Amino acid sequence: MRELSRELRPHSLCRHGHRWCDVIGMRRAVRPSAAGWVKKVWCGGTGVRRPGRGCGHGWDLRVSGNPSPAQKWLFVVGRDLSHPTILWHCDLSGPSLPRERGREWGKGRRMRKRSGNGRGPPPDRYEAALLLAAAGDALGFRGGLWEYCTAGARIHEELRALGGLSSIELRPPDWPLSDDTILHLATAEGLSSGLEGDALLQELARRYVAAMEDMEGRKPGPSSILGTSQLRPGEPHGYRIPFNPTGTGCGAAMRSLAIGLRYPRPEELPTLIRVSIESGRMTHHHPTGYLGALAVALFGALGVRGEPPELWGAELLRILPHAWDYVEGEGVAVEENAAAWDFFGDTWRRYLESRGLLGGGGPPRVPSLPTPEERDADWEELCARAVLHGGDNDSTGTIAAGCWGLRWGLSRVPPGMHRHLEYRQRLCHVAHRLHALAWGH
Ligand SMILES: [Mg+2]
Repeated sequence: MRELSRELRPHSLCRHGHRWCDVIGMRRAVRPSAAGWVKKVWCGGTGVRRPGRGCGHGWDLRVSGNPSPAQKWLFVVGRDLSHPTILWHCDLSGPSLPRERGREWGKGRRMRKRSGNGRGPPPDRYEAALLLAAAGDALGFRGGLWEYCTAGARIHEELRALGGLSSIELRPPDWPLSDDTILHLATAEGLSSGLEGDALLQELARRYVAAMEDMEGRKPGPSSILGTSQLRPGEPHGYRIPFNPTGTGCGAAMRSLAIGLRYPRPEELPTLIRVSIESGRMTHHHPTGYLGALAVALFGALGVRGEPPELWGAELLRILPHAWDYVEGEGVAVEENAAAWDFFGDTWRRYLESRGLLGGGGPPRVPSLPTPEERDADWEELCARAVLHGGDNDSTGTIAAGCWGLRWGLSRVPPGMHRHLEYRQRLCHVAHRLHALAWGH
């Protein structure tokens, strides 16, 4: 057991007043990283679910000693009421993020194996995800009529007058795609280039800027307009824009499902975190904005792997500290990001609590729909809940319908929802390209 210095005092309090009871040791030390020995220890950290704990605030921890280079894993173990708990662990042999490793990372819950023999889902699930994400966007948008209608009852009244979902053909000019899908295509096609690292981020920035040329009648959001005007693709770090105190919208989330399709494997989590945060803050440089991109990318990856949706929200909460490690490690606008960090996780936690999903299991407690006929079929219920409401329905629609497509494919969806979609060929082509890149065949 290596010694831990006293920068972290046994009874330090975090900003929420939670107490770190003690550090009793770690298993397997690590080699020094470029940042030296100072690492972050999180209050509660991953996997701790006692009431009043796990607020996500951290302390700096200084590791001393001379560990062997062959040893890879760092575990920081806390002691509370005689129950040792893994508070934090990290694989420093590669990216400074923990790998998802069954019970170790899931803390008592073993993640399911990937579907098939590491081959992933069939390509048509990727196609369904891209197509239905576009369908949810076109349906919720309705050329601007429904996106800006704040009365859900009126939307349903008009839907009935149209003959219901099965009578609708989603095609221009009445049902064009909105900014959501144009920017999602930019993400997906950027990822399908096969580039990685900074070259990929430059490519995404270039495609977001180019996508703004195709926004006539598609109602892009103000943060997307501002952010893309600040991007300088091709210049060093030209994919970064200043922190934006008002960049809190869903414009980063709505275009990020493809990131999860590209990096679905558990060992790709560090890349998923990096690409979703960096691509998200190309337009929404505020945690509430770019963590939405991380959320949707993660949900895409979990959906590809067949993990039950009841687990997704709890998984997101668990990786948020690692997302912060990444943001802090990059050293870009750290103070502003830190000051605005808590809102996203706190809001998610309250939402999961209200739905009975905080523990990662179901069934979810969801409000009942107002009329029985809206429950006739799963796709119709999804649209009733996630697309046809008086809110930002094209964005909630594109995210929910894309995830639904990953799970159920196209077979339960009326053909009119997808057979004449604008840019259908582009959507299908990029879906197959992402599948080939992700699963290697
Ligand atoms: Mg839109």
